[in-house]
Amino acid sequence: MEFKKIHLNGFKSFAEKTVFLIEEGLTGIVGPNGCGKSNIVDALKWIMGEASPKEMRGKAMDDVIFNGTTIRPQNDLAEIEINIDNKNKKAPELFNDCENIEVKRKIEREKSSTYYINNKVVRAKDVHLLFADASSGPNTSSIVAQGQVHKLIGSKPEERRVLLEEAAGITGLHARRHESELKLKSAEQNLSRLEDIIKTHKDQFKTLEKQVKEAEKYKTVRDKIKNLEITIIK
Ligand code: ATP
Ligand code: MG
Repeated sequence: MEFKKIHLNGFKSFAEKTVFLIEEGLTGIVGPNGCGKSNIVDALKWIMGEASPKEMRGKAMDDVIFNGTTIRPQNDLAEIEINIDNKNKKAPELFNDCENIEVKRKIEREKSSTYYINNKVVRAKDVHLLFADASSGPNTSSIVAQGQVHKLIGSKPEERRVLLEEAAGITGLHARRHESELKLKSAEQNLSRLEDIIKTHKDQFKTLEKQVKEAEKYKTVRDKIKNLEITIIK
């Protein structure tokens, strides 16, 4: 999976539609302080599902929307789209038929984010898994933000383990394990609910059995009475 293009629209300092092409080899972005270089890295983290406004260097998620200048009004929505080349067919099964994968995230003021993969609305979890399987994601070692190298050097062994696991490409498996554990828990709850229902039905069955026996007794007695009455009449 190779990133080919990033479209930014209304995201942070990119008020207008801007497209960055990522050609083969290394891509560098240079520019003066405050021109928006880190905003492009933020855009990458955001499209991969970053949910923390702090990680986006803001207070609320709406802070990623262009907030206007003295000469330009603010935007009402921000969008990032990324085009991924999947010719090597390494995407998760669900999307592996496609040679090109387009992932889009959109946010409108005071509304939550919407995610799309190939123009279909998907859950944030689907986007997480897509990138986790490619050993990428907003909090992985594949994105090293300004000042982070220093943090990495001083990281604890457990934090380093996370980095090694990402490098080994098993982050996707971890995400799936968590999802499977949740499913297992809900299946267990359903099972115990079923056991309760079966017990209630068994109790009801016992009562019904008693009632059937009584009804049969009643029928026999009633038949006996009828026969006696017939004998008396005769
Ligand atoms: P440096 O070289 O100092 O690291 P940089 O090129 O990485 O700089 P960024 O941090 O990407 O710069 O961009 C900062 C600029 O983005 C600031 O001028 C800030 O005002 C602007 N900015 C951030 N969020 C928004 C927003 N929501 N609307 C408009 N501008 C924004
Ligand atoms: Mg920067």
